[in-house]
Amino acid sequence: MTKTWPNSIAREAIVEMSVYSARGGATDALHLDANENPYAPPPVVGVSGYNRYPAQQPEKLVQRLAGLYGVKPEQLMVGRGADEGIECLLRAFCEAGKDSILTCPPTFGYYKTCADIQGANVVEVPLNGDYAWDIPAIIKAAKPATVKMVFLCSPNNPTGNSLTREAILEVCDALPETLIVVDEAYIEFSEQESLANQIGTVRNLIVLRTLSKAYALAGVRGGSLLADPAIIQLLLKVLPPYPIGRPVETTIMNALAPSAMAVHAQRLEETISERKRLADALAQSDYVETVYPSDANFVLLKINNAEALFARLREFNVKIRDYRSTTGRVRVSVGSPDENTIALQAFGVSKQAKRSDRIGETFRKTNETDISVRVNLDDISQTKIQTGIGFYDHMLEQISKHGGMGLTLSCEGDLHIDAHHTVEDTALAFGAALKQALGDKAGIGRYGYVIPMDETQAQVAIDLSGRPAAVFRGEFPTDHVGDFPVEMCPHFFESLAQTLGAAIHIDVKGDNSHHMIEACFKGVGRALRPALGIVGDSNEIPSTKGTL
Ligand SMILES: *Cc1c(COP(=O)(O)O)cnc(C)c1O
Repeated sequence: MTKTWPNSIAREAIVEMSVYSARGGATDALHLDANENPYAPPPVVGVSGYNRYPAQQPEKLVQRLAGLYGVKPEQLMVGRGADEGIECLLRAFCEAGKDSILTCPPTFGYYKTCADIQGANVVEVPLNGDYAWDIPAIIKAAKPATVKMVFLCSPNNPTGNSLTREAILEVCDALPETLIVVDEAYIEFSEQESLANQIGTVRNLIVLRTLSKAYALAGVRGGSLLADPAIIQLLLKVLPPYPIGRPVETTIMNALAPSAMAVHAQRLEETISERKRLADALAQSDYVETVYPSDANFVLLKINNAEALFARLREFNVKIRDYRSTTGRVRVSVGSPDENTIALQAFGVSKQAKRSDRIGETFRKTNETDISVRVNLDDISQTKIQTGIGFYDHMLEQISKHGGMGLTLSCEGDLHIDAHHTVEDTALAFGAALKQALGDKAGIGRYGYVIPMDETQAQVAIDLSGRPAAVFRGEFPTDHVGDFPVEMCPHFFESLAQTLGAAIHIDVKGDNSHHMIEACFKGVGRALRPALGIVGDSNEIPSTKGTL
């Protein structure tokens, strides 16, 4: 019997197997089919489903991930990390003692580990001196039918460089019977476009994606393998039962909520700009000979005087990845701005712009609104606001611009009812993020007072005292500006004061509601600037009580 591809290259035993798993997950039937317990485990009474096996491939999660990566649900398998995708590939396609995989070292070590466990061989086509891939050599070495798959990690871990799209497609084209596995664990940090959009066009292309790096979910374990549905069907036969526990599914769905995506995008932007700052500064370090260009969230370094450097790193309690035994290099991950500053000090680079982590983030989800906020008190470039109310977005931009802070705020609210919940809840979330960004408030100005003047006059006074108080004096001549009810203007500042822990006094006079509200938001921004700002070199908490 002749088998069609990809069955023709899969292990015989796997092709003949059917998919394990008693059922696809709990339905509304009376389930007496899986030996489960009828009660919820303590103490999660009220959370439904923990006593029931989850679906083998939870449907909503698969749909969300397929949407994220731009493929069809049947082209995706979700597992415990991209790692599980690699495990399944080896299990389904490589016969022990007979078949091989091809890798291009130095690269991610788990490909070889999985091959060793499976008893498969590893054909190595090393990267050349500049860490470039030798495409003709890869194609030549992968020609024998026993080479079942080629692993191309792009951006590559640990070198940080990427293959071009053309090179990858050339390999797919030259080896139509072989699986070309493109590991895109770091693609979000790269300018390169993901190859996910070629799934469905190039039958032997497999793309690995992970939530561990760009989406901050390493501890949750979630990764996807994207491939032709016929390949997915083979892999599902070797995927262990129920890899995605219900709390894992919930956590991932929450982390990928539509409102959270703006914060993810902002964090990515920050990592990419910090990567540049780190790389530029490390190039100045006496310990560093070469900083290799990186498209990922790390940089590879050629170092000298290694013993002294590692002693300093120990002194600063900074861990980096030591690849000296295999590549003679070290790898440094990009951390938060403050973390990178500490790493740079350990590398003996002192002359670099001071950055700090005065960053606050809040995620707030109720039946009425789904909100994410990221505030960066020291980087105004990080501003993006989306609430669905045009005028209100514009007002929040005024606070950000005049307050000198970066503000990413996105809200999916019940605007079909009215603007009330959206304005109130975003104000509460914004205040909480500001408070978090301020930390212990050491060194801040604490007070702000302004009287911006044109035809509308608003007097604003702010005290970041820790105690909420809001006083608003002003009469608006109309009841709405666009979709924004004017009564929400005082209510906004009241809610902000509540979670920020601030006294906010506003006095506004004028004869145009738009101008009056704008004056209030601008004024609060202007007054916040000195209050939030660091005064001189002082690290004192500006209160005789010693706490604010
Ligand atoms: C981190 C990493 C992975 C693992 O991803 P998980 O989803 O956490 O299993 C896969 N490939 C490469 C190249 C990695 O660096």
